[in-house]
Amino acid sequence: MNFPIANRIADLRPSDIRLMTKECERLGGINLGQGLGDLQTPPLVRDGAINAILEGRNTYTPSEGVTPLRLAIAEKLKRDNGLDVDPEKEIIISSGTTGAFAATLTALLNPGDGVLILEPYYGYHLNTILLQGLEPQFLTLSPPEFTLAEAALNAAVRPNTRAMVLCTPANPSGKMFSDAELAIVERVAEQHNLLVISDEIYEYITYDDRRHVSPASVGRLGERTVSIMGFSKTFSITGWRLGYAVAKASLANAINLVNDLLYVCAPAPLQYGVAAGLQAPPEYFQNLRAEYQRKRDIICEGLNDAGLTPLVPQGAYYVLANISHLGFPDAKTAAISLLEQTGVACVPGGSFYQGGGGENLIRFCFAKDDATLREAVVRLRKFRS
Ligand code: PLP
Repeated sequence: MNFPIANRIADLRPSDIRLMTKECERLGGINLGQGLGDLQTPPLVRDGAINAILEGRNTYTPSEGVTPLRLAIAEKLKRDNGLDVDPEKEIIISSGTTGAFAATLTALLNPGDGVLILEPYYGYHLNTILLQGLEPQFLTLSPPEFTLAEAALNAAVRPNTRAMVLCTPANPSGKMFSDAELAIVERVAEQHNLLVISDEIYEYITYDDRRHVSPASVGRLGERTVSIMGFSKTFSITGWRLGYAVAKASLANAINLVNDLLYVCAPAPLQYGVAAGLQAPPEYFQNLRAEYQRKRDIICEGLNDAGLTPLVPQGAYYVLANISHLGFPDAKTAAISLLEQTGVACVPGGSFYQGGGGENLIRFCFAKDDATLREAVVRLRKFRS
């Protein structure tokens, strides 16, 4: 029997990230393509979850999450994000940042609405938009600064545009939006009455003493912003699937309704684990930054030596390298050739652009243990010779 598949997924394609991972496995290479992140989970978080299991906290929780975690998040939002939030009504714990993003789109937008995303984009943003029957719309930001200009943003808004997605620090560019750029977002969003969805999963991974600024803390943006945050990267628990949405009560209420239907609740004992993790001293977050900055510097130096010019990231744990001078016909050919020659996998830049962009870029993820990263750098250096 040959059952048809749904129209809504007809245009979805697995990304080249999966292809590169498969190819890397086949060749026994080092995978700097996929952003798995293999740092140790802090004992505070791990033991918090283990104790919760031992204490029998294994049943459904309220769909918005357990109270101790929402209280801990509200405190964190005040301390680190400059956001004053009601933990009862304005925080929804979800199945990862990914779940929070999907629930937000489903709850607040209608099929056919336009959602503006900034290129280079994070593939899940685009595909989740497509999956929801929304219309993705694009504004390309140009390397090396990826500056957001007011005229360009205004021009990218169409009559049916209802929302825009920001990602700061961004995957794949590492871009962190400046105060001036966020003021532009505020003006344009107000002018066109746009919802702003702000993915801040890398908020604690920032470099060179840069301070993360939550868009919702800028001017009046908090009124129209859903902040999407998560624990995958902060506590190295990508497999735990824990994130949350923060929004004004009327929006949060709608998001919670969908969150309940899609996920029922986030994993109960794991919610207690991250609640414990949020009590970590400031040094934990400082060390996290320092550790990733060291890794960033190792990979950027290696890329420079290999003649793969890095666009040094301001945050997150990816680096784009410019390969335009190497003469490859496209980024995929370059990525495959690099893998075959050096045994190091990256992601072709086309994965982060629609319609032919990114062919002069490849992306490396440096969330790897130091030994793996140093071995990758040794291999990459051979690329030049
Ligand atoms: N948002 C961005 C920008 C990401 O890069 C990732 C993971 O790579 C996610 C969200 C996924 O987050 P989570 O594990 O919380 O679903």
